[in-house]
Amino acid sequence: MNKGELIEKLDIQKKYGSKIIRIALLPIFGYAGFGIFAMTRISFVQRNRICFSSCYLFIIFFVVGIIFWLLFRNMRRIGLVCSKCQKMLDKETALTTLKCGKCGEIIITGNGTSQ
Ligand SMILES: [Zn+2]
Repeated sequence: MNKGELIEKLDIQKKYGSKIIRIALLPIFGYAGFGIFAMTRISFVQRNRICFSSCYLFIIFFVVGIIFWLLFRNMRRIGLVCSKCQKMLDKETALTTLKCGKCGEIIITGNGTSQ
């Protein structure tokens, strides 16, 4: 690929990332809001405070895990990973050295033809 294509792909990834994060924040804040309400109002939840708190932590880890998984899956789908070592491309390294920061494979070809 060339520089223009890489910048375009980075832009797609950025938009996808902000969309995913906005969707993922809903259950986190929703559960937090419900949790604060339940902790003060519902005696069953108050008695099982530790259980509900650890459950919340679990949900956060789970959601964060899904975010990373979706982001990485999208990177692979649009071709933002190195074709040789399959590691994700670092924007600065790829744009300045034109190479993969991990294995040194040439990522960006100067001319307009795509790889
Ligand atoms: Zn590589």
